[in-house]
Amino acid sequence: MSAARDAWRLPATALAEAVRSGGLAVEAAVESGWAGPAAQWEADVRAVVHRDDSARAAGAAAARRLPAEAPLRGVPVLVKDNLCTTDFPTTCASRVLAGYRPPYDATVIRRLRAAGAVVVGKGNMDEFAMGSSTEFSCYGPTRNPFDLERVPGGSSGGPAAAVAYGLCPLALGSDTGGSVRQPAAFCGVFGLKPTYGRLSRYGLVAFGSSLDQVGIFARHAGDAAAAYAALAGPDPCDATTRLSPVPDVARWEHGVQGLRFGWPANLWREGVEREVVAGLEAAAAALERAGATRVPFDFLPGEYAVATYYLVATAEASSNLARFDGVRYGFRHEDSPDVRALYTRTRSQGFGPEVQRRILLGTYALSAGYYDAYYLTAQRARTRIRREYQAAFARCDLMMMPAAPTLAFRLGEKLEDPLAMYLSDIFTIGANLAGIPGLTVPMGLAAADGRPALPRAVQLLGPDDAEPVLLAAGRALEVRGEVARLEARHETEVAWPTKR
Ligand code: GLN
Repeated sequence: MSAARDAWRLPATALAEAVRSGGLAVEAAVESGWAGPAAQWEADVRAVVHRDDSARAAGAAAARRLPAEAPLRGVPVLVKDNLCTTDFPTTCASRVLAGYRPPYDATVIRRLRAAGAVVVGKGNMDEFAMGSSTEFSCYGPTRNPFDLERVPGGSSGGPAAAVAYGLCPLALGSDTGGSVRQPAAFCGVFGLKPTYGRLSRYGLVAFGSSLDQVGIFARHAGDAAAAYAALAGPDPCDATTRLSPVPDVARWEHGVQGLRFGWPANLWREGVEREVVAGLEAAAAALERAGATRVPFDFLPGEYAVATYYLVATAEASSNLARFDGVRYGFRHEDSPDVRALYTRTRSQGFGPEVQRRILLGTYALSAGYYDAYYLTAQRARTRIRREYQAAFARCDLMMMPAAPTLAFRLGEKLEDPLAMYLSDIFTIGANLAGIPGLTVPMGLAAADGRPALPRAVQLLGPDDAEPVLLAAGRALEVRGEVARLEARHETEVAWPTKR
């Protein structure tokens, strides 16, 4: 293969190795995704909201000056537009932050750069990460590269779609209620939400601070492991980061012999698409072939988590978003007669409809007369939900369930029905309430008459700090559990979208 032109097809770790051994220039590694896949896809998919060729070139030049051992040297990474970057705007896909450029890099961005990775732009998202389809963006929606009539999922739809079509082998998103795991499922890539506090939130624009976690998109389990190893760890700038030693994910290739995986089949007895269930069956069979054991049990239905989440998350959002008032950042309504009008008009015009809905819901849940009935009750429910997960993990090492009840849905399908949109997170939200890690694993394509083949996926959840187990199981599924193939390295066929 022509090394430079086809470099975008390589896993991140192989790309970094090609750069390290001198076979590939850093610039060529960074540019190959733009030259090939982006030229073909970006105009239709619109995954990238801030692109700047000179900032990208400066990033590549900085990576070139790093020592050869930097583990991700030359790897291009698209990052969600709610992670602060000094060289690209950070707007959370909101008018209220139009033109805002942070004076500092988020900790995960600093660590990415220190590892030699190059930030190549900012990825589209639902405004302030509120949504499940990337349709609530002031820049317009991102489309799913497997079917341009469908959504890529959300809220981190841009980063997910970019990894799927080949712009970059790695991307960063944020996961407050599933915004990494659900778009990963819709776009057919890996999506890791680490344990709460494993990756610093410093410089991640806050949505629901007790739920937010930076997450990783990758086409290979090993790449997700490499990114996790580079990013995880305590940060003095984020008091909620975990201080215990970071779990060692170097064993991501070691297989699943003896592993027990929970199989809460009551959760998909109804309301889950047939193709999604077929993906679960295929994944369970593959893990069993690789030496794991299925442990069936009933688990708490997701409705409780959804109800709890939409109180906790909106309450925290209403408080976090109070800072966008026209005084400090971005957009300001001009010619307001007084400061009160300035706040009201800036916020009414700066925030889109979903963000305003969340602020209203959250303010209501926290208001004096309703605090006990809603917010406090939700906090109690949250504790109960965490206990349910802990009890389940006394019986198994990880649990398998859908990442979403459906395959990627059509653009516009749920836009007018907030509740339907909220229910697309029914399988992901529990992990954020419980603080536990989760991994979406792509399971190939589901073909059907009358539409293009769409990605299907499963979700694996584990107890706190189970990232090594999740990644090992993800890897076993990546090679469908066959020992001989497990021993080879990145040989998996990636499902690439094909243009109709
Ligand atoms: N879709 C969920 C919401 O709208 C989760 C979003 C997220 O994880 N950022 O709140």
